[in-house]
Amino acid sequence: MNTYGRFPLELVRGRGVWVWDSNGKRYLDGVAGIAVCTLGHSSRPMRKALSRQLRRLQHVSNLYRIPEQEQLAAWISANSCADRVFFCNSGAEANEAAIKLARKHGHLVRGIDTSSERGPLILSAQASFHGRTLATVTATGQPKYHQGFEPMVQGFRYFPYNDTAAFEALLQRCEAEGPRVAAVLLEPLQGEGGVNPGDPAFFQRVRELCDQHNILLIFDEVQVGVGRSGRLWGYQKLGVEPDAFTLAKGLGGGFPIGALCVKGSADHLQPGEHASTFGGNPMACRAGLTIAEQLSRRNLPAHAEAMGQLLQQALADLASRHADIAEGARGWGLLQGLVLRPEGPSAIAVVKAAMEEGLLLVPAGPTVVRFVPPLTIQPRHIRLAVRKLERALLSCLAQTASTT
Ligand SMILES: *Cc1c(COP(=O)(O)O)cnc(C)c1O
Repeated sequence: MNTYGRFPLELVRGRGVWVWDSNGKRYLDGVAGIAVCTLGHSSRPMRKALSRQLRRLQHVSNLYRIPEQEQLAAWISANSCADRVFFCNSGAEANEAAIKLARKHGHLVRGIDTSSERGPLILSAQASFHGRTLATVTATGQPKYHQGFEPMVQGFRYFPYNDTAAFEALLQRCEAEGPRVAAVLLEPLQGEGGVNPGDPAFFQRVRELCDQHNILLIFDEVQVGVGRSGRLWGYQKLGVEPDAFTLAKGLGGGFPIGALCVKGSADHLQPGEHASTFGGNPMACRAGLTIAEQLSRRNLPAHAEAMGQLLQQALADLASRHADIAEGARGWGLLQGLVLRPEGPSAIAVVKAAMEEGLLLVPAGPTVVRFVPPLTIQPRHIRLAVRKLERALLSCLAQTASTT
């Protein structure tokens, strides 16, 4: 179906941070499948582990115990604030599970009555992104994604990201006639919404209020989690622990997997209340285990932090050399954005020009050019990427000059 506005580019092969198109042209991959290919393309550990797993056992069912799934859950709980994990296949599915958990929490813990028009509410941020299924697209605080799909799912309210006063006011309004709010859903850093890092003071205040009211605080770590932020989990950048968080993108390094990770105190789902046929199958969990092993062995979160500092500095320098069209750079670790001036070339125009130069990038909204490369990227690749990006900016400017 015609659901994607695709670039006319056919990628047929990848190795490390490089991909090749069907004409044999090579590209430096600053997208990595949108923050997915944690170890780059066709890495040796992934090739070895997944081909071995394919020979041993590919898929069974959650009717049975799955050792690879238990091991991956054990790794997540040993290395995060979570105690229990539910596995699914994507970010949207992980957030769907979180939304179901939130409603259960609302009924069970907060005693929110559903008989009337009242019922549990989930508060999420404007400019957020939580997925494209009906409930997760409703949670997504961007009206453009709702358009044409109304009526939206009931029980969602929105507030401006990082705005403590607005959040407090909304919470007060929602709770005016008794318990109503089941959960607050937040990205530690907004990815699709423009690479907006969370403000620790805001997140601390939200945590306090959630504690006061027994409201579940859920973080969507689908893009920022699994080492990309420069820490293993994005919440570590904020110094605030959630009650539950969701993972997907980078967790499988290119193999589809999603996860809802919860603290013991938020483990409200009973047998039969949620399920997935493919979720946590041996192949997906082997992929996750391989990513986990490599993250720890090669200390990739620290590498992402160091490479991210290099990249952000280089982007900031680039922006100051081209202050007429670029405002600066922002992000965490290897999730960085070059912020463009609204009156200059659009992010999509820059992404297209960069593609001509042999560099893959992806917009995050109309004015931010996003870098989410493999966590294995090296300084020489970053220097090369920024040189290519500078040539792309210059060619955008030349194009505007020739058309005006
Ligand atoms: C990509 C993304 C999702 C959706 O993940 P899918 O696997 O595409 O369903 C949800 N939340 C965030 C923060 C994302 O970046």
